[in-house]
Amino acid sequence: MQNLCVLGATGSIGLSTLDVVRRHPDKYNIVSLSAHTRVDAMYDLCVEFSPKTVVMVDEYCAEQLKLKLIAQDYHHIEVLAGTQALTDLASCPSIDTVMAAIVGASGLLPTLAAIKADKRVLLANKESLVTSGQIFIDALTASKAELLPIDSEHNAIFQSLPLGMQSKVGHGNIADYGISKILLTGSGGPFRETPLTEFDDITPDQACAHPNWDMGRKISVDSATMMNKGLELIEAKWLFNLAVDDIQVVLHPQSTIHSMVQYVDGSVIAQMGNPDMRTPIAHALSYPQRIESGVQPFDFFNCKNFEFSPADLNRYPNLKLAIDACRQGQGACTALNAANEIAVAAFLNTEIKFTEISVVNEAVMKHFYDVEIATIDDVIKLDSDARTFAKNTIKTLDVT
Ligand code: NDP
Ligand code: MG
Repeated sequence: MQNLCVLGATGSIGLSTLDVVRRHPDKYNIVSLSAHTRVDAMYDLCVEFSPKTVVMVDEYCAEQLKLKLIAQDYHHIEVLAGTQALTDLASCPSIDTVMAAIVGASGLLPTLAAIKADKRVLLANKESLVTSGQIFIDALTASKAELLPIDSEHNAIFQSLPLGMQSKVGHGNIADYGISKILLTGSGGPFRETPLTEFDDITPDQACAHPNWDMGRKISVDSATMMNKGLELIEAKWLFNLAVDDIQVVLHPQSTIHSMVQYVDGSVIAQMGNPDMRTPIAHALSYPQRIESGVQPFDFFNCKNFEFSPADLNRYPNLKLAIDACRQGQGACTALNAANEIAVAAFLNTEIKFTEISVVNEAVMKHFYDVEIATIDDVIKLDSDARTFAKNTIKTLDVT
């Protein structure tokens, strides 16, 4: 029986995780859950999974949840509030495995706490790795933690790697295993064929309507701008110890192949399946075994075509910014991630246009590109400074 903590339990990945867990009550025990503000969703999870402890980061929402649980006689569930409670939850001795599925850099400290506490960490929260890079990998290397990628591309790459390399997340050497390239696939999002002249008028709902994947709103916008692929490129660099030029982004609109590993002998090993996050989640939960995930078997006879093309950086300026940041260094990556969180929130709030996301991101990245990052405090300071700069940049843009 694995004792689980699900951080970000009310989100898209959190709920998919709990759906896999629901199918295997003999294997997984939900000990703790976290959310930010969604009280009703958390209440439902408390009723179904009866965790020992839950954290609502927002204090008022924690109080609301507490009252709701007590009113229904659920006195045995402890409800905590605040960010310190999150890191305590992630490092609690009674936990074996932590699903890191908070969205954004808010996931950084709890994810790091889980690593330092030697947990098996299932990493969905790519922003935590993007924003802290070498510091995150050093903490992993110094610990007895095990890191398994949940992001579908990184999980696909992991599955396509030789066993020896799978046990070296963060410090393997691809040349030792005859690997020549990592092919990072992406669908291109909903606007792959939209005329560029229409980009200014893209609405949040259009941007969140991903053709293949059902995800939270922030990552959906990132997929539409392809900042998501950029963040994934940085994530892949750290997880698999790669240089930027070892990674090639490949547009594959069908999202059937989730990424590939190319070997020096000409072999390409790909992982494929239906676009459903329960596959990588089940893989990481049960690794090295396999468990049923609820995902339908792949139907080859209904799979019309497999298309592949390079990404047009003119259409996806955020992808270019992320590639530049990855070459530039940690300061650029941390600042870009922070700017993007602010810019995407402003776009979702209809404060800026879709095309202005990259304008904000570029301005912030240019301002902070050479800031040195040596400690986690440096990361937190730069993240905060970059957010302030991004908010001020937004104020200077024309009101849409
Ligand atoms: P969602 O927006 O659906 O869920 C986010 C979760 O994090 C919710 O539980 C939310 O709580 C919680 N949360 C939000 N803000 C905070 C905060 N400041 N502090 C603590 N908790 C917070 O996101 P997704 O599930 O889509 O994504 C989660 C992570 O997984 C992201 O890093 C994303 O990039 C990554 N990922 C997601 C994929 C997907 O298919 N969705 C695929 C690959 C990676 P509340 O509900 O109360 O707001
Ligand atoms: Mg992905």
